[in-house]
Amino acid sequence: MYHNRLDTCFYGDYNCASSYLVRETALASDFDGIAGPCPPELESNRRDCCEATVRTSGYKGGFVMSASAFDKSTARKPLPVRNPRTGEIDMYITPPSSEEIAAACARLRKAQETWGRAPLEHRIGVMKKWADRLQAHRARLIEADSMDTGYGQISKVAPDMVIGSVLRMCAIAPAIFERSHRAGRSPGAPNVAYRTNLRPYPVAGIIGPWNAPLMLSTLHAVPALFAGCAVIVKPSEVTPRFVKPMMETIRETPELAEVFTFVVGDGDTGQEIVENVDIINFTGSVPNGRKVAEACAKRFIPSILELGGKDPAIVTETADLQKAATAVLRGAVTSTGQVCFSIERIYVQEKVHDAFIELLVKEAERVELNYPDAHHGQIGPFIAERQAAIVDDHLDDAVRKGAKIRTGGKSENLGGGLYMRPTVLTDVTHDMKIMRDETFGPVMPVMKYATEADAVRLANDTYFGLSAAVIAGSEDEARRLADQLDAGTVSVQDTFLTFAGFGAGLQPDAFKFSGMGSRSGILAFLRSQAVLTNTAEPASIIEEELKAVR
Ligand code: NAD
Repeated sequence: MYHNRLDTCFYGDYNCASSYLVRETALASDFDGIAGPCPPELESNRRDCCEATVRTSGYKGGFVMSASAFDKSTARKPLPVRNPRTGEIDMYITPPSSEEIAAACARLRKAQETWGRAPLEHRIGVMKKWADRLQAHRARLIEADSMDTGYGQISKVAPDMVIGSVLRMCAIAPAIFERSHRAGRSPGAPNVAYRTNLRPYPVAGIIGPWNAPLMLSTLHAVPALFAGCAVIVKPSEVTPRFVKPMMETIRETPELAEVFTFVVGDGDTGQEIVENVDIINFTGSVPNGRKVAEACAKRFIPSILELGGKDPAIVTETADLQKAATAVLRGAVTSTGQVCFSIERIYVQEKVHDAFIELLVKEAERVELNYPDAHHGQIGPFIAERQAAIVDDHLDDAVRKGAKIRTGGKSENLGGGLYMRPTVLTDVTHDMKIMRDETFGPVMPVMKYATEADAVRLANDTYFGLSAAVIAGSEDEARRLADQLDAGTVSVQDTFLTFAGFGAGLQPDAFKFSGMGSRSGILAFLRSQAVLTNTAEPASIIEEELKAVR
């Protein structure tokens, strides 16, 4: 028989698609998805294994469903998770069924009624408690993010970014709500008094990418929770390990656990979430962003889309070339180039092109791989195996069409992980994939330009418009170019300054296919409601009586 309110599977067999009850418990209560397979003697009958090993508990909230809800036909297949450093499949996740997602969203919706109506001070208090729990689990969060990404150093800042964002919003949220409230009398109808309310979207769905899993899945949930939404997050199926410690931080903050949960799964799960929530924040690729936008449009719910980029950097004739090489390299290869605002194309004035290439190659060759020690060197493995194949394909296409590789080259398999040394290419053209499509690797294709107008035209010759960079001899010259670029953020005299913009609370729009409605602060998750009060007599529809009133 099946039990309601389960706590954990003794064997922690997260692969066991035949038992929702064990699986739902792993999702909500323990997230014990990292355990090994069923013991061999029970492998032949997984259902028995799970029946034999579940135990009841007083667990409340999360994915608890009744025994009658069990239906094998709706089971989703377990998804393999690859370790980016070893290349091995060392984990399986089993996504929830449609029914489980619908039930989870219904529960969140119910709990949100209290959360959304509570005074902001209450939410601030709860979020502060959660920040404490994040701090308490910081080491485990870092470890899990590092397993997900293969990164050493970069994972160390991931929980700090979330904690910093929570504490910053605790400080600024009261002013945001205060400033947004309006009250007065309508100039056209002075007898009508008005005031505005900010009403949260009840349930927000956050769908995250693999390239900064903990940060990008969790950061967008923070303003939604402050706004008063309940939130369901689905990180990428490529990087789900951090969810287990993250769920612990949430469970240890009971008021938050009612309105905040994570689920694992792939695009199918993402689609189910879109069907059950009231607003979506999606970070990912353009093709999937389009699917999400279409699904949201069908339901008339808003979608905030944060999509890909093909960021250009312009280096002018007057630039300090050493500084430019330092900035371009950092902007292109940080996180193995797997950052949405990585520098992906470089345009250099023809008179300084060769000197710049010499410096860039010299700088690039100083960079070391994080191999074999994750904490030594600057570049880790590709997180997703498929990304290494895309980058290799872009390089092959470019070389076939006449590009020359000056340093670096193809991805290499080291201990099962796929790595790539910083790669500099010249003789590239806009007929090559490497100058048009998102590469998402530590690759720097450099192209000459003659005039300032050429530089602007080439930089804008893309369907992306996330960010860009300009490095010139003077700030005036750099700014003049920056103002002509079709990109949401432009770094001047450096690259990769987007983070500084986040710190300042800026919410630039993404241009073109790089996103839509990308303002993702608290206000993005709030609807404005006008309440209008007639302080005089209601007007009659009868003409004569209307005249009498006038
Ligand atoms: P992806 O589009 O493959 O997947 C992103 C997420 O969407 C995953 O969780 C995936 O499971 C889910 N998904 C896939 N299909 C879906 C569907 N039909 N409906 C709902 N959800 C679906 O992207 P990725 O490869 O994980 O991430 C890399 C991409 O993300 C790059 O293009 C990168 O530039 C972009 N990105 C953008 C930003 C930004 O702020 N603009 C930040 C980071 C990454």
